[in-house]
Amino acid sequence: MFKGRLDFSRRGRARVLLSTAIGTLICIAVSFAFDSYSFEEGWRWGDNPLNNLLIPLLLAPPLFFLLLSKLREMAIAHQELLEVSATDSLTSCFNRRAFTALVEGYLEKLEGREREGALLVIDVDHFKSVNDTFGHDRGDEALKLIAQGISSAVRQTDIVGRIGGEEFSVFLPSTPPGLMKLVAERIRLAVMELKFAPDGKQYGLSVSVGGAAFRFRTTFADLYGKADKRLYKAKRNGRNQVEFDLSLHERPSAAIAS
Ligand code: GH3
Ligand code: MG
Ligand code: MG
Repeated sequence: MFKGRLDFSRRGRARVLLSTAIGTLICIAVSFAFDSYSFEEGWRWGDNPLNNLLIPLLLAPPLFFLLLSKLREMAIAHQELLEVSATDSLTSCFNRRAFTALVEGYLEKLEGREREGALLVIDVDHFKSVNDTFGHDRGDEALKLIAQGISSAVRQTDIVGRIGGEEFSVFLPSTPPGLMKLVAERIRLAVMELKFAPDGKQYGLSVSVGGAAFRFRTTFADLYGKADKRLYKAKRNGRNQVEFDLSLHERPSAAIAS
């Protein structure tokens, strides 16, 4: 659908052709207009109707097409760069910077409106022993699998990021605490069920999860701090479990005054 502006995306080739045609028509119309108007006589039939048609027809299409195609290529390259700079190369999740920026952007947009949501911080249990036992490359494979496990357990609207070595985070927009608990548990179970058998025998992977739910205005740092504290409680309690903080959901005084 033509939205009134140029589409320089991958699918925008037809739009480039259409814009070239429109640009050429405008050039022809302008040529005719210049040739057909004089201050003394007003509008009259121009002296060079053939030139007015032929010159723009010869010059405008290649120029418009070249220029618009180059702009389209640059826009695609720019989009690809943005995607690469936002993505963790090992797991294809958002990297820490992009994840933080996305969540901060979401929280800022709430502008004091009451809106539920949650942040989960997920840390792989005893991951050092995966590296020590099977080597760093197998460790990398385990991290890729874990990222897939986490992504498979969340909704499309949720945001998954790798925020440290073996630490992931999931932002759950518009999510009440009950659903947050369900998703966290689903993630824990999904990781336990991953098929990781670097030496032929199944090796059990697990994660601990800390979660913080919010309903009032808050910041990423505040949410992350609360979820991280719960993560360490889950670790202290023996790992492979989930722990939650609901203070930003229950008490407006615990959140930033809007
Ligand atoms: P805990 O249950 O307390 O979290 O124990 P842990 O062993 O997971 O935690 P620790 O912080 O002691 O070790 C984390 C390990 O994760 C150590 C580090 O080498 C490994 N690691 C971090 N990033 C990567 C990575 O990109 N690839 C691989 N293979 N290992 C990584
Ligand atoms: Mg760990
Ligand atoms: Mg860690």
